[in-house]
Amino acid sequence: MTSKKDALKIIEILKETYPDAKCSLDFKTPFQMVVAVTMSAQCTDERVNKVTPTLFERCKTIEDFANIDVNELELLIHSCGFYKNKAKNIKLCAKQVLNNFSGEVPHTMEELLTLAGVGRKSANVILLEAFGIANGIAVDTHAKRISNKMGLSKEKDPEKIEQDLLKIFPKEYLKDINHLLVWHGRNTCIARKPICEKCTIKKYCKEFCL
Ligand code: SF4
Repeated sequence: MTSKKDALKIIEILKETYPDAKCSLDFKTPFQMVVAVTMSAQCTDERVNKVTPTLFERCKTIEDFANIDVNELELLIHSCGFYKNKAKNIKLCAKQVLNNFSGEVPHTMEELLTLAGVGRKSANVILLEAFGIANGIAVDTHAKRISNKMGLSKEKDPEKIEQDLLKIFPKEYLKDINHLLVWHGRNTCIARKPICEKCTIKKYCKEFCL
C-alpha cells in the first residue's frame, strides 16, 4: 500500500496538473443538483448537461418535478439512459423532499440516503456541490480505478474504498479528491487506454510498466 506521505504527494501533483478540476454537472439549486446527479448514473456529465436546460425550463420548482406526468419526464430524460427508473426516482424524490423535508433538500448523509435514487456516492456529491460539505469522498468509476492503481486501496467496493481514503486524507483534502481523480480518469488514466507516458503520477502507480 502507498504511504500517507506519497498519497498526499499524489493529490498535490494532481492539483498542479488539473488546477481547474471541479464538478462538471450544471445546476443552480440543490434540487437541480439532486436531479442532475441522478441522471448522471451510467451516463456522461456532458450528455446530462445537454438535457437539463430543457428539463429545468419545464420543471422550475420541486413541485413541478413532483407533479409532472412520469411519461413526459421519461421523454425529457430519455437520452440519458435508464430513463424509466431515473424518471420514477426523480418524481418520488421530489415528493419526499416536499413531504418529509418541507421542500428543502436535506444537508446530512443520513437524510439524503432516504431519498429515492440517492446512494452514498450521490449523497457525497450533493453535500459537496450543493452545500459545500466535505465529510466523505464520492467514489465513482474513476476514483475506484485510480485508487486501486495508486495503491490507496485494495478494495473493490466503493464504500470500502471511501473508508480507506478517509483514513489517509486529512479533512482539508476531501473536497478535491473526487474532482482530481475524475479529471485524471477522463484526461489521462482513461479506462480503456491510459496515456501513461504523459501521466504526472506514474512514479506512484502500481500498474505503470513502460
Ligand atoms: S501510469 Fe498509467 S495506469 Fe498508472 S495512473 Fe498513470 S495513466 Fe493510469
